[in-house]
Amino acid sequence: MLNERMVALGTQRSVIRELFEFGKQRAAQIGAENVFDFSIGNPSVPSPAIVNETAIKLIQEMDPVILHGYTSAQGDAGVRQMLADSVNRRFGTAFNGDNFYMTIGAAAALCCCLNGLCNPSDEVIVFAPFFPEYKVFIEGAGATMKMIPADIEGFQIDFDAFEAAINEHTKAVIVNSPNNPSGAVYSEATIQKLAAILEKYSAKYGQPIYLIADEPYREIVFNGTDVPYLPKYYKDTLVCYSWSKSLSLPGQRMGYVIVPDEVTDSKLVYAAVAGAGRSLGYVNAPGLFQRVCAMCADVSADVAIYETNKNLLVNGLRDMGFHVVEPGGTFYMFPRTLIPDDVAFCEKAKDFNLLIVPGTGFGCPGHTRISYCVPTERAEKSLDAFEKLAKYYL
Ligand code: PLP
Repeated sequence: MLNERMVALGTQRSVIRELFEFGKQRAAQIGAENVFDFSIGNPSVPSPAIVNETAIKLIQEMDPVILHGYTSAQGDAGVRQMLADSVNRRFGTAFNGDNFYMTIGAAAALCCCLNGLCNPSDEVIVFAPFFPEYKVFIEGAGATMKMIPADIEGFQIDFDAFEAAINEHTKAVIVNSPNNPSGAVYSEATIQKLAAILEKYSAKYGQPIYLIADEPYREIVFNGTDVPYLPKYYKDTLVCYSWSKSLSLPGQRMGYVIVPDEVTDSKLVYAAVAGAGRSLGYVNAPGLFQRVCAMCADVSADVAIYETNKNLLVNGLRDMGFHVVEPGGTFYMFPRTLIPDDVAFCEKAKDFNLLIVPGTGFGCPGHTRISYCVPTERAEKSLDAFEKLAKYYL
């Protein structure tokens, strides 16, 4: 008898993957330029040249036995110190290398935190709309996910619903800002209120409620939007970061967890995160790209194209009658669908070769996610297809 949960996870393709496959088939039939594939969040901007240059230099100049060898499980010590220096420079923190644990992207960072923190009766709170893999990761850690319905006016937090959901089983809360799928950035007021509530209930139940800050989109913001650095607002914060989006390196699988010294029982929490990485068989994050990312830590990909696409699509869609909350960052937007049934709406959109993802999978029906990490000409050309879709309903 196999593990049924794993069989299901391995056989059921996600809605996003289904759409992506459909897009490839349509492209073969009518040409890629006529398919408006807004399904997947794969960065469309190349990594900055310095990334490849650094990788080449390391391959040419570094002792290959060291470069290709195991690093220590928590990551190369020099790499972690360089990252601490970079984060301290940018956010005014006082971390050192020992606060960092290198991971195979943000996904592994989240899994290490969740597996390290959670026991079987624990609950982890997420705010809709949320990255659907959270449910897989939380349940994989043996805990239960509790979803707070979306605040659809601004995609901040419905604090009444949040407070009502907290109980003695609440082990952690995951926040993702800038947010996939809404593109929203939590304001400082939102973060302050969140921190105050977490402090109140941690005190009430006599145990910390950990805040897990999932931040792969931190660098992808528009108009200089400020993304508050969460450890400065709440001491029991673990930061999960990755270079998948900021350096357009999703295939290289590189990220980290920060466990600040201020976290309750910080050393034990760090040990639990590392222990989770060990039990999951991660061994160590890829050695070459640990070094590349550390050496490029102050660089990010040119996100101007995402901002151009965002402006073009937000304005275009609003003119057609769509309700769109302005994204502060990422390469996603999350307009309301023109009928309540978002699944039917996205199915209809396929008739116009528009591949957009139903909000239901993100815990927020009545919306659709548009991933606009596409060439700008494609975004421009898609407006005609959106217009036809809108006309069908309005
Ligand atoms: N968290 C969010 C919100 C994401 O959107 C993604 C990827 O799309 C991840 C985590 C996982 O990122 P990584 O490729 O770094 O594992």
